[in-house]
Amino acid sequence: MMQYEITKEKSAEYLRQAIHHMSQQDAAFHPVSYAVWYEYSSGEHARLIDEVNDLIEKEKKLNEKSTAHLFHKHIAATDPDSAKVLVERFNQVVTDITTSTKQAGQETSQFKKSLDAWSGEIQQLEPQLGAQLGSLLSDTLQMQSAMHGLQHKLESSLEEISDLKSEIMKAKQEAISDGLTGLMNRKGFDSALHQCLDTLPDQETCLVIADIDFFKKVNDSYGHLFGDKVIQAVARVLKTVSGNLYTAARYGGEEFVLLLPHTSMETAREIAENIRRQVAAITIKNNVSQRLISNITISLGLTVYQPGESVDSFITRADQALYTSKAKGRNRVTMIEDALAAA
Ligand code: GH3
Ligand code: MG
Ligand code: MG
Repeated sequence: MMQYEITKEKSAEYLRQAIHHMSQQDAAFHPVSYAVWYEYSSGEHARLIDEVNDLIEKEKKLNEKSTAHLFHKHIAATDPDSAKVLVERFNQVVTDITTSTKQAGQETSQFKKSLDAWSGEIQQLEPQLGAQLGSLLSDTLQMQSAMHGLQHKLESSLEEISDLKSEIMKAKQEAISDGLTGLMNRKGFDSALHQCLDTLPDQETCLVIADIDFFKKVNDSYGHLFGDKVIQAVARVLKTVSGNLYTAARYGGEEFVLLLPHTSMETAREIAENIRRQVAAITIKNNVSQRLISNITISLGLTVYQPGESVDSFITRADQALYTSKAKGRNRVTMIEDALAAA
């Protein structure tokens, strides 16, 4: 993991070195090469430094391909969060440069206007000086066009950055969502759960685990594709009920979880009951027989977090409550208040 708790001066020094290194390569000025050279300059990433040095010795310069390879291998793959920070920082650098280039461009164009006005007058009074002014004017024009070019390059670099940023965001989002239902997946839920318990350990937090009843039979009777439709329909109920307040996820095949922060047992029980009823009311058309299938049910287990307990024991208790619902005949909600009740 990279260190970002460094001083501003140090960071500015790495940045200066990174830009210097970048300017000597074949790869263009973009966030990927910036990230590689910033890391190189910070001196903390031994394996990256070794590989860069080897490449420079062999190939003299880094090109687009080798730069991208280094970025993916040493930065993005091992540490997407830091990659994001680096991209954001590069964005800031380029934005700053773009702003100052624009300003410089405006000043140049002002200067050119004054020169234009003067040179006409002086040409008539003092032809010798007029010629000098003429060459100064053409220098200015050249500079102005160089400024325009640089500005254009910087602007397209900014576009590249925003593309790369949204790519990183998309990849992060995909890593925690379930493809079939669009709900969060188990990985995403586990981190949301840890985060929730870390930040509000003293507040009432409830957890519901739900599992579709006799789902194997649904698959056997109507086929796997129909089974998928059932999973999606149950997910829609959970999505609607949870809104922005709660976190719903597909925890496994036909198993779902719902995390309810700031929620009392009684409220959570009503919500779980509501979910159970809405699922029991689902009807789905079987595309093979064209008939409506309606007897889909889920069993639910509910518990409340006991301050100080481990995440595992919290989940296990909700699971025990679910198991009780199954044992008692399914299509019901069981609530276990604490470890004593579970024993
Ligand atoms: P119970 O009421 O005790 O939960 O019985 P069940 O049949 O639902 O439980 P079991 O765990 O025996 O079966 C779950 C089935 O869910 C088995 C598996 O093939 C099916 N399944 C898991 N993931 C998917 C999926 O993504 N799509 C479909 N169609 N079926 C799935
Ligand atoms: Mg099941
Ligand atoms: Mg199951």
